[in-house]
Amino acid sequence: MLGLMQDWPLLMHTVLDHAAVQHPHREVVSRSVEGPFHRTDYATLRGRALRVAQRLGRDGIRQGDRVATLAWNTWRHLEAWYGIAGVGAVYHTVNPRLFPDQIAWIMNHAGSRVMMLDLSFVKLVEAIGDKLPLVERFIILTDAAHMPETSLRNAVAYEDWLTGADGDFAWVKVEENAAAGICYTSGTTGDPKGVVYSHRSNVIHALACNQVDCFGLGAADRVMPVVPMFHANGWSLALCAPMVGAAMVMPGAKLDGASVHETITQERVTFSAAVPTVWMMLLQHLESTGTRIDSMNRVAIGGSACPPAITKAYQEKYGVRVIHAWGMTEMSPVGTLFAVKPEVAQVTGEAMLRLQAKQGTPPYTVEMKITDDEDRDLPWDGTTFGRLKVRGPAVARRYFRREEEDILDAQGYFDTGDVATMDPNGYMEITDRSKDVIKSGGEWISSIALENAAVGYPGVAEAAVVSMKDAKWDERPLLILVMKPGVLSPSLPQMRDFLADKVAKWWLPDDLVVLDDIPHTATGKILKTKLREMFKDHRPA
Ligand code: ADP
Repeated sequence: MLGLMQDWPLLMHTVLDHAAVQHPHREVVSRSVEGPFHRTDYATLRGRALRVAQRLGRDGIRQGDRVATLAWNTWRHLEAWYGIAGVGAVYHTVNPRLFPDQIAWIMNHAGSRVMMLDLSFVKLVEAIGDKLPLVERFIILTDAAHMPETSLRNAVAYEDWLTGADGDFAWVKVEENAAAGICYTSGTTGDPKGVVYSHRSNVIHALACNQVDCFGLGAADRVMPVVPMFHANGWSLALCAPMVGAAMVMPGAKLDGASVHETITQERVTFSAAVPTVWMMLLQHLESTGTRIDSMNRVAIGGSACPPAITKAYQEKYGVRVIHAWGMTEMSPVGTLFAVKPEVAQVTGEAMLRLQAKQGTPPYTVEMKITDDEDRDLPWDGTTFGRLKVRGPAVARRYFRREEEDILDAQGYFDTGDVATMDPNGYMEITDRSKDVIKSGGEWISSIALENAAVGYPGVAEAAVVSMKDAKWDERPLLILVMKPGVLSPSLPQMRDFLADKVAKWWLPDDLVVLDDIPHTATGKILKTKLREMFKDHRPA
């Protein structure tokens, strides 16, 4: 017997339709790539997204075709995103921070037929133009007045291109499991892999993220996604905000501390999300200028572990609650978020900060387990660490064009490549990536735990831990530091003293080096592969 409810497929356009009907005048404010702030609303944005869909259709873009965007977070990117999915095509968000050759590789692998790009990336794409034979047209996300001279094939200014469509168009009905978007993993290990989201997975994932103990957005929020739409499905915020009618504040290309601060205060942002590096830059700005961010009440921080020092500063000094989040491109991307369960409601002060350093609990739709190398379940005791595996309707099942590869275990779980503990209250804590963990005498040392402890040392701006070869223990930890400007670095004994009551004695680093700068990945994470390479022959002095 089947249920007798309506067949209402979970398609992305339904989210924008809802926003346009229920919250037509809610603002979408952007710092434009051209410079000035631009203001629109959901009703207008929907009208323009329909024109994007209609125009793509007239250009011969069909269901399942890939259309790439190489763009910052602005209203044009948002309407293009909905327009692409709305004609049944697949948005392919490309990360401009990748090396140009990687961008060409990804474009060809995805087979994107059209590329929409911001003015800031015209030169970059011109340089690889001859490596993009599959792209039939380049659409520059600007108007005629700002359109540059360019050698790009069939280049057209987006606003001119849009005049070729009046918006008298109906969204193309696809089935809810049809592909809606594709996002490549950053490829720090081997070729990037294409993760293909469906309309259904995107909508379900956004519903899950909007729960009170997750992002908890509402119509009164003014949401600023600093995390770019090209990073891990934009953490789903381009769906979460319109779904509840929250205003959106799109920061464009300016992501430095001063600009982020200006946007927050000018636009009265209440909620934002980004990697720790961004919040570190903003914190430095706030501290050096003595300014505040009083409109903000919470911030989601993820992508790499959020050091307790950051959580403490935002919560205690600026009154902004930190929501530590963990996820990955393959999970659409949110896997866990930290919220206070009644079981830990009595915890306060430093103990609460320690708890918030955990990545949190999964929302409904994400199932989790930790296992040993033989795939045996490990206990949720808060200390045993193992491989973290996940399952759910918004978790990848296969990679694009590698469909022959089975990436799930016998129970249908995906191995995240992370190593984690689970505590009796269900809080997960990442202790490492399986390839970053330091294997000392057959036991595992968490590089992340050491890094988190080391950034608490006064004057330390960034810390990274990698392994050094060791004759006796096989591997031992090497601590790499970047100091804040003008601050002297600690000696190894000073640092070991500082860490002594924070980690196990046998975890203490055997050496310390100070760099002016630590290499980062395209998404702002510390590039461990590069550090390992740099220090592969390093031995303690
Ligand atoms: P990219 O490498 O392109 O940024 P992802 O965003 O998919 O790709 O990276 C996912 C990985 O980032 C996770 O598997 C995990 O190792 C790490 N990560 C994400 N959030 C956190 C967090 N809050 N704490 C620790 N590690 C995190």
